[in-house]
Amino acid sequence: MSKKKSPIWHPFTQHALQDEMTKIVRGEGAYLYTADGHRIIDAIASWWVVTHGHCHPNIVSAIQKQAEQLNQIIFAGHTHEPAEEVAALLLKLVPRGLDYVFFSDSGSTSVEVALKMALGYWHNMAKPRTRIVVMQHSYHGDTVGTMSVGARGVFNAAYEPLLFDVTSVPFPTGGHEQAALDALEIACRTENPAAFIVEPLILGAGGMLMYPAWVLKEMKRICEASDVLFIADEVMTGWGRTGTLFACEQADVSPDIACYSKGLTGGSLPLAVTLCRADIFDAHYSKDRTRTFFHSSSYTANPVASAAAKANLDLWQNQESSERVASVVAMQEQGIGPFRADARFKNVRRTGTITALDLKVRDGGYLAGIGPKLQAFFNSRNLLLRPLGNTIYVMPPYCVTAADLEEIYAAISDAADTLA
Ligand SMILES: *Cc1c(COP(=O)(O)O)cnc(C)c1O
Repeated sequence: MSKKKSPIWHPFTQHALQDEMTKIVRGEGAYLYTADGHRIIDAIASWWVVTHGHCHPNIVSAIQKQAEQLNQIIFAGHTHEPAEEVAALLLKLVPRGLDYVFFSDSGSTSVEVALKMALGYWHNMAKPRTRIVVMQHSYHGDTVGTMSVGARGVFNAAYEPLLFDVTSVPFPTGGHEQAALDALEIACRTENPAAFIVEPLILGAGGMLMYPAWVLKEMKRICEASDVLFIADEVMTGWGRTGTLFACEQADVSPDIACYSKGLTGGSLPLAVTLCRADIFDAHYSKDRTRTFFHSSSYTANPVASAAAKANLDLWQNQESSERVASVVAMQEQGIGPFRADARFKNVRRTGTITALDLKVRDGGYLAGIGPKLQAFFNSRNLLLRPLGNTIYVMPPYCVTAADLEEIYAAISDAADTLA
C-alpha cells in the first residue's frame, strides 16, 4: 500500500513524487487564493480554460439564474433556450461554412464527435473512407480515439496496441514547411483518407509548437483538392488565444468540422461543441433511422453550462473583449521580447496571447529532470506555471495586468539563473 494521504487520484500526477496538492479556496480575475492565505497568479489560465478571469460576474450570475430554473434535461427530443442561443450566437462568430452545432461536454468528446461525424459522412455517402491523417506532435485528448489521432509517446505507451493506425505528416518546422505540405499532399492523394485533423497555428500539449497561418491555409487547400475533410481542433486555440477569436480566421480557413471547448464557458463549466458543414449533417439526414448520428453524452448541452457559454458569447459580442486580447498580445510581446536575445533560452516564440521558450538543458523532453524543479521554483514564487518539460509557456487570462506579467517573466529569468 502506498502512503497516500488523500483517496483522490489526480490527473497527470505521479503521486509517489508529488502528494501535496495546493488547496485553492477562491478565484478572482487572474488570481487564485490558497487555504493558507497565499495569492497565486494564474499564468496558465487553469489549464488553458479561463479567458475573462476567474468568477467573472456576468458568467457567475448567468449560472446562478439558470441553476434555479432548469439545471438538466435530456437533450434527445428536447431543447432549451440557453442551448438555442449558444448555437445561434456561435454561428454568427465562427468561420463561415459551419452550419450545425453538436453539443458535448469536453474537448476530447468534441474531437471524438468530429471523428465520428467524418466517418459517418463517408459511410452514409457509400464511399467508405476510414483513414485519418494527423500532424506530428499533435494532442487531441486522452480518450482512446483521441489518443489514436495524437502523438505516440510516454503518455500513451501502455495503450498503444489498442490505438488505431493513422498517417502522420511532419510538423511544419520553420524552414521545412514545404516538406510537411508535400507529405500531406501525398497522403491525401494516395491513402484515400476520411479526414485530416489539426490544431490550427499552435500545438498545445505537444510543446506549444507554433507555425504560420500560410501553412494552415495551404493545408486546407490540399485537403480540399482531394476532397479530404478538414477538422480544426480549436479546443485550446479558440476564444482569443491566438489573437483572433479563432485561429482559423488568420488563415482565412473555413474548416469542414471544428471543435471548441475549454474557453467556451469562459472556463467556468465543462461544455464543448463540434460544428460541421451542412452536407455532413445532410449525409445523416434521412427517414432511414440507420443513418442517425448515434452519439450522446448524459450531460449534452447541460442548461447551466449552456447559460455560462451564452454569457461568455455575450462578452465576445462586446468590443471590450477583443480590446483586452489586443492589449494582452502587446504586453506578452513586451514580456517575451528580451528573452529573444537571451543565451539561456532557445525557440523563444509567441502567437497571439501565448508565449513559450525552451530552457537550454542537456536532456530535454516532457520527462526532463528540470521539469519538476522548475515547477517547484514557480510554486515557491506563488505562480501557477506548469512547464512542459523544459518548455515554459505563459497563457494568462485576459484580465492579467502588466505588473503580473512582469512578475511572471522575472521569475522565469530567475529560474534559469537558479536551475540551469
Ligand atoms: C485540452 C485539449 C483537448 C482535450 O480537451 P479536454 O477538455 O481536456 O478533454 C483536445 N484538443 C486540444 C487541442 C486540447 O488542447
